[in-house]
Amino acid sequence: MRLLQNAKRAVNAARHYTVWQTARLWHWGTRKRRWDAIYWISRVADEPEELAPGALYVVEDAGQAWAAILACPCGCGEPLHANLIPDSEPVWKLTEHPNGRATLTPSVWRLDGCRAHFILREGRIIWA
Ligand SMILES: [Zn+2]
Repeated sequence: MRLLQNAKRAVNAARHYTVWQTARLWHWGTRKRRWDAIYWISRVADEPEELAPGALYVVEDAGQAWAAILACPCGCGEPLHANLIPDSEPVWKLTEHPNGRATLTPSVWRLDGCRAHFILREGRIIWA
């Protein structure tokens, strides 16, 4: 009886291992795919309710860009807000390139949730 239980446990462990490995590979795959995703600037007057993947929303008021918003590129999709107004902290600098892409400095680092840490450079996500 004990032998049978041990065998069952071993089968379960093997199954778990396979699932975990597959999940890991899948995660790696999405990361790699997302690495190639380009973020394009999209000008808005208000924060959109749904953030499209690959969109960097630049919220403007009277021609003044005051926030950049994007869905977290790690895949969790949480909205990330970067303040662009120099007189409040923390503040990011948004550089717009003629090709419609953006560079955001310094890096974006989520201190809660997924803890994603990346740099957006010319529309590309560079994981830090
Ligand atoms: Zn995330």
